[in-house]
Amino acid sequence: MAPPTTMAPHATARHRPTVIEVDLSAIRRNVARLAGITSTTVCAVVKADGYGHGAVQVATAALDGGASWLAVALVEEGEQLRAAGIDAPVLVLTEPPVDAIGALLDARLTPTIYSPRFIDALDAAGAQRGHRVSAHLKVDTGMGRVGVVEADWPVRLDQLAATPHVEVAGIQTHLARADEPAAPTTAEQLARFARFLALARAEGFDPPFVHAANTAGALVHPESRHTMVRTGIGIYGLSPSEAVDAADHGLKPAMRLRSEVSFAKRVDAGTGVSYGHRWHAPVDGWVATVPIGYADGVRRALSNHAEVLLAGARRPVVGSVCMDQLLVWCDQDEVRVGDEVVLLGAATDGGDAPSAGDAVRAEEWAESIGSITYEVVTGFTARVPRMYRDER
Ligand SMILES: *Cc1c(COP(=O)(O)O)cnc(C)c1O
Repeated sequence: MAPPTTMAPHATARHRPTVIEVDLSAIRRNVARLAGITSTTVCAVVKADGYGHGAVQVATAALDGGASWLAVALVEEGEQLRAAGIDAPVLVLTEPPVDAIGALLDARLTPTIYSPRFIDALDAAGAQRGHRVSAHLKVDTGMGRVGVVEADWPVRLDQLAATPHVEVAGIQTHLARADEPAAPTTAEQLARFARFLALARAEGFDPPFVHAANTAGALVHPESRHTMVRTGIGIYGLSPSEAVDAADHGLKPAMRLRSEVSFAKRVDAGTGVSYGHRWHAPVDGWVATVPIGYADGVRRALSNHAEVLLAGARRPVVGSVCMDQLLVWCDQDEVRVGDEVVLLGAATDGGDAPSAGDAVRAEEWAESIGSITYEVVTGFTARVPRMYRDER
């Protein structure tokens, strides 16, 4: 693989060899793949700093790959995209506080709307500015988080019919269990969504954008695709769940986390290492120290429960993960300061290494810590610099 071609300073730890490398060509290909699979408009979800990958870089790559919308969770995240010169439509996925409406409109963001107070405030702001404000109405069909609940559907449509400065340019819902293909919930939610769409049309609301699908919906529930899909985790090449594996759909991880051995030593059988001596060397052998820890986002629950590729070979993380360092058991193989350690992704030189073609997956970490890939990649802190590679 070619070395990274561009570097974006993101944090202070420039003297430490620990970096996150993001392959922007993988993001582009994943978006193109999702567009091909779904044959509909792709809205690339870049909230939480692009799931830890870097929102501006990911947004740019996603638009290059064929996305026509972006989505964020916060007004501030939308402002960041605008400040970087990104002009594409940006959907804010939940209502911000009413006080943020001015900033939202200044940044030309498209709000998600559902509560009466927010809708009235948006209408007033539109009136004041002398133009209609495009918004995407969200209905709760079973997620139970935000959105107009079914009992309020008629009254909310009545309100919207009486707020001339709010234009319902989209109607959306969100799926609670799309990542469990066998669960009947998705079909039930989509049936409820269809009932709402019929009601809305009868009241004269027939917007161009109708959307329900997240990545799992887009991949395994074709009936959820409607006219747009809001794909997050899939554009990063990661799996929504164990049951919906990104690799099965041709999506490839964009993130690689790498470091280098900072200290190496031979220990005697029975030697305890790291806090609490939660691991002891089974035989005489080599232990490597790696300069990354839980303050970087390598969760402490991975103590004794993760593997890395060290000089190309799969090795176990042993003992407690510390704040800034962790330890790796290399058994009989002598290890040297400077040897490459890949914590996520493939080894740099897969060539003739013992585990050529092997890669450590975020899915492995998720399983080890009883979580999901989303939490793994959004958990990396600002201390780890992000570097960008692009094969163009
Ligand atoms: C985060 C989010 C998404 C993206 O979900 P993925 O599973 O990452 O594809 C879509 N819609 C809403 C409302 C979200 O909050």
